[in-house]
Amino acid sequence: MVSNLSSALITGITGQDGSYMAELLLSKGYRVIGTTRDSKNIKDRLPDCLLNNVELVTWKMLEKDDFLEILVNYKPTEIYNFAAYSSGTGMYDDPVSVSEVNGMAVTRILEAIREVDCSIRFCQASSREIFGEAIESPQNETTRTNPRSPYGAAKLYADSMIQIYRQRYGVFACSAILYNHESPRRGLNFVTRKITQEAAKIKLGLANKLHLGNIDAQRDWGYAGDYISAMWLMLQQEQAEDYVIATGKVHSVRQLCEFAFERLGLDYHDYVLEDSSEFRPAEPVLLTGCADKARCQLGWNPSIGFKELVYMMVDADLRILTNTD
Ligand code: GDP
Repeated sequence: MVSNLSSALITGITGQDGSYMAELLLSKGYRVIGTTRDSKNIKDRLPDCLLNNVELVTWKMLEKDDFLEILVNYKPTEIYNFAAYSSGTGMYDDPVSVSEVNGMAVTRILEAIREVDCSIRFCQASSREIFGEAIESPQNETTRTNPRSPYGAAKLYADSMIQIYRQRYGVFACSAILYNHESPRRGLNFVTRKITQEAAKIKLGLANKLHLGNIDAQRDWGYAGDYISAMWLMLQQEQAEDYVIATGKVHSVRQLCEFAFERLGLDYHDYVLEDSSEFRPAEPVLLTGCADKARCQLGWNPSIGFKELVYMMVDADLRILTNTD
């Protein structure tokens, strides 16, 4: 049971993960404070159910003193960090900014916790990209890290700082090593949402074809809402530890297409085109996670399977496009 003094700070509250976390915490009775880079047009970027129920504050992740002030003013008992440059093709862009925001900002947060109140609990959204060119598959918490991108390197730096603050200063800080997690709120630059939105458009006669990159690429895809629950559970444990959060099952982009079009009574063969300009440089590594530790210690289990997830996203896109949401 959450005490009525519980309040949580979520960085990146307007993103997919931040908004699901805000909903979960509100349902548990937390006071929720969210940071955003920019409070302009916030109404367009935050689901209606959150708009009047969360408190918003601007933080660009770059100034530690501003974050100190936020902690002093709002006194959160838990912090969840989602603000970051995202993965995908952008993993190699602007490495300096990626290092600042995905890496160094975590040290700013940890330092602020240490200075203001060491009892604040902290959960970091880490990434499968820390394994990069992984040396084994599936990966677990003991797999040797080997990032292949500035994105992965920055996330790994953040994880290292978390371990250091945990060991040296006793801060309750932990990393959730998250594999791909999707939902109707996923950005359109990710392949899942690109497919579900375009398939819905095709069904409604708003588009004819869907151009993709390599449709034999595979990922370990889960439902974002489930991954958020795991992170909340991590902060309710007696001890701070890092956990891999994944389904352990891989599917191809092709299967994604199959299920998305099937949901709409269509055959993907009639609409999907592989476009070499969308291909990424070789992706030889099979990134799939083993979440046995989370299952055993947190009692966590994904509640939604791959097909159900694709159906959920297609249904949501149909509702959005027909304004029946
Ligand atoms: P990522 O796992 O963070 O790279 O997430 P994405 O959703 O961007 O990509 C997942 C996989 O889908 C990758 O292997 C991509 O190469 C593959 N893919 C194939 N076609 C596309 C496409 O049109 N867009 C994107 N984003 N990915 C695609």
